[in-house]
Amino acid sequence: MKKQSKPKLAFFDFTDCEGCQLQFANLGGVLLELVELVDIVNFREIMSEAIEDYDIAFIEGSITTDNDVLRIKKIREKAKVLVALGSCAAIAGVNGIKNRSSLDTAKTIVYGDKAELINTIKAMPVHEVVRVDYTINGCPVYIPEVISVVKCLLMGKPYIVPNYSVCTECKMNENVCRYEKDQECMGTVTRAGCNSWCINNGNRCYGCRGLVDNPAANAQKDILNKYGLKLEDVLKHFTLYNDSMGEKYDQEFK
Ligand code: SF4
Ligand code: SF4
Ligand code: SF4
Repeated sequence: MKKQSKPKLAFFDFTDCEGCQLQFANLGGVLLELVELVDIVNFREIMSEAIEDYDIAFIEGSITTDNDVLRIKKIREKAKVLVALGSCAAIAGVNGIKNRSSLDTAKTIVYGDKAELINTIKAMPVHEVVRVDYTINGCPVYIPEVISVVKCLLMGKPYIVPNYSVCTECKMNENVCRYEKDQECMGTVTRAGCNSWCINNGNRCYGCRGLVDNPAANAQKDILNKYGLKLEDVLKHFTLYNDSMGEKYDQEFK
């Protein structure tokens, strides 16, 4: 009987820090199990070969230049399945910070008198340019969720991205709320799926997975009132991702 060929998997990075690919490389034993099921043909962080023939494309990073737009469209044409890997790809992540200023202002802040030499557009998540089949949020991605998504992908099943807040997971993990410790936390309105990773480890939620679709804005306001806080008091600690949440955050909470 003819042996069935394995699907070919490739990684591509756009504007990002490559930390999400590093999470993938750190899968360890699971990565060895994965290569039993797929042929990894392009993964710059762990191999030097790169073959331009693939079925599954993992996309890391935001789309931030005209050239990125052309490149992601070409990848989409080739790939049977396309996965947005990490917050930069899923919600524009930290790159979204630049979207709150005009492009000219953002370029001047970063490049000074060389700003005119820089060709850039607003930072976009991948789904704003091409169709995305699977999304893995997080900065960086959370390994157990990566494994869940890969299993769904290989079985041809959809992966349902959680649409409830990190607080749900945090309560199930029996953490003491950071607000009880006089710290603000974005878990109330941030999409779950990381098993409240940061709070479990003594930190607070910075909102890296983006807003849930219907954030409980009134409940969030009640919490702020209870602790004598204003929205501005909270947001000033969370500029890293809430800029990429942008207008939606403003609409819900202002
Ligand atoms: S989501 Fe975070 S860890 Fe992943 S590539 Fe972007 S900046 Fe790096
Ligand atoms: S606000 Fe933060 S610390 Fe408090 S329950 Fe929600 S996720 Fe946990
Ligand atoms: S707790 Fe918040 S900041 Fe930490 S990984 Fe989860 S969503 Fe991201």
